[in-house]
Amino acid sequence: MGMPGRFLSVRSWSVISLGLLLGPVSDICFAEDWADLRAAGPFVCRADFSLQGSEALLDDLAQLQEDLVRVLGIPAPQEHIEIYLFRNEADYRHYLNKFLSDVPYRRALYIKRGGPGVVLAYASKELATDLRHECTHALLHAVLPMVPLWLDEGLAEFFEVSPQDRPYGSPHLTKVRWNAKFGVKTAIEKLEKKGEVTEMGSAEYRDAWAWVHYMLYGSRDAHGELVLYLRDIAGNVPPGSLGARLAQRIPGLEQEYLSHFRGWTPRR
Ligand SMILES: [Zn+2]
Repeated sequence: MGMPGRFLSVRSWSVISLGLLLGPVSDICFAEDWADLRAAGPFVCRADFSLQGSEALLDDLAQLQEDLVRVLGIPAPQEHIEIYLFRNEADYRHYLNKFLSDVPYRRALYIKRGGPGVVLAYASKELATDLRHECTHALLHAVLPMVPLWLDEGLAEFFEVSPQDRPYGSPHLTKVRWNAKFGVKTAIEKLEKKGEVTEMGSAEYRDAWAWVHYMLYGSRDAHGELVLYLRDIAGNVPPGSLGARLAQRIPGLEQEYLSHFRGWTPRR
């Protein structure tokens, strides 16, 4: 979870097949013989295998959408998000080679350009995590004109674990707590300078997750500022630096961040 570059959100590319991918349903059905089609919240999910038995997975994504609205105060998406699931990696690779040959291979992908967001993944052991991660990107970008890269990944890392694991069950927590114990932290401003996915390594994913965890569990003021920041973005108001906004609102911000993780003892 959260290995560098394992999840790539491709936001800008152009290939001839784009129109086909994002085109009307009939084109897509024509393009591939989908075995199943389900709707869950804003998601329309097609798979090349039967989705019988995958209801919990899809319910999870509908729940994720509600969680993002509730926790972040962002609007609910007004557009569908399309999910394409493949029974195995070979089918997935075959599809990518056929329709998305310019996109670097990743185990799961989120793609948006113009039309509705598209999430693609295959039925690996990590499918639920992959879907929650990529669908978090999709839900954010469905309602926000932009999301700073570090925050986009921090939120996706936060919401990729199941709801019950979000407070204590992230694989990032142990290292972040260890770092906090020794006063090691990364300023948000440093993360805010990362403009390319390739600049986001495992440490950046982890630190971005940590700041999101702090904002959502560590401080009512920080949470409030995050909500206002996202509201500005949604309203096309230049939001400035979230790091600077938090520092202005919370005296001793970095100390508070460290205290949050020093005192955040897993319950198991
Ligand atoms: Zn991501």
